[in-house]
Amino acid sequence: MGTGRLIIDLDAVVANWRALDDMTTCRTGAVVKANGYGLGAANVCKALFKAGVRQFFVAVAEEAVPIREELGEKPDISVFSGHMPGDTELIRALNLTPMINSIDQLTHHFETLPGHSFGIQLDTGMNRLGMEAQEWGAIAELALAQNPTLVMSHLACADEPDHPMNAYQLENFHQMTDGINVPRSLAATGGILLGPEYHFDLTRPGIGLYGGLPFETATQAVELELPVIQVRELAEGEVVGYGNTWQAERPSKIATVSGGYADGIARILSDRATLFHGDIPCKLVGRVSMDLLTIDITDLPDVPRKLSLIGPHQTIDDVAKAANTIGYEVLTQLGARYNRKTFGK
Ligand SMILES: *Cc1c(COP(=O)(O)O)cnc(C)c1O
Repeated sequence: MGTGRLIIDLDAVVANWRALDDMTTCRTGAVVKANGYGLGAANVCKALFKAGVRQFFVAVAEEAVPIREELGEKPDISVFSGHMPGDTELIRALNLTPMINSIDQLTHHFETLPGHSFGIQLDTGMNRLGMEAQEWGAIAELALAQNPTLVMSHLACADEPDHPMNAYQLENFHQMTDGINVPRSLAATGGILLGPEYHFDLTRPGIGLYGGLPFETATQAVELELPVIQVRELAEGEVVGYGNTWQAERPSKIATVSGGYADGIARILSDRATLFHGDIPCKLVGRVSMDLLTIDITDLPDVPRKLSLIGPHQTIDDVAKAANTIGYEVLTQLGARYNRKTFGK
């Protein structure tokens, strides 16, 4: 088989959810936007539902379709983008709960789906989604009279525990919501780790479920192995790949493996990434192509059938660091061409 093999461990996802759930005394939901951070939303939700998760979050209404197909009516599915024009039929048919972001959305929701569930998203300083204090002040009474399921906000700097923004947003959230009789939610993965004053009634972890930072003790949930298609011997001075960016400084053995930027292996990893054969690191040399990588295996004792990009010796965050990005992006870019093997519940 010519494609890379992406191994997805749902038991690890469940173990991560349990570990994050154990850090709080409140309810723990699960964020499964972007196809479950690239791992497959339906499979992830099925495993988490079995483990007891009843509240899922997606970014946009369309992402709820495979989850409802898999799990039926039982879990709550909330939508961070709220109630957008054109979403009404989907929100009604799939019984989704939009997290309302503005007075416009609230008006549209009440007009088109009176009596239908909704939550409220507040902006406590991130300036991205949600109502600001003044807007909320104007309609809070009206909205609260219709029994929202949740009032939530999102932290901008929760992965930096000492950042003053955390306390600032916490204070704003208190000012905007203290005394209301509705469940509240502020923390994603980073917020859970900040401590109990950030937990409120429900947490919304995403990245931690999938093994990423800032959840340092997470269990890794994916492995990625790329098959070796060809191996060749180079004389000193020969070059490799587009633009001839790498030149052999000694007689070298180069493995060409299947996988490239079309599979989400960022081109910035050219001459920067490391792949593993067992526990032996092998340098990626030359440019990342659309479908191929070239790896220096000169120092390996044998010719491998495959090399590992994500696995026991290299986490998604290690790859992210080499690519000058974050684990979230590495996961959500994982390519559609891989041969996906999903294990666990
Ligand atoms: C993505 C997202 C989350 C999950 O964040 P993680 O850092 O992945 O845990 C929670 N809440 C909102 C509003 C989000 O956009």
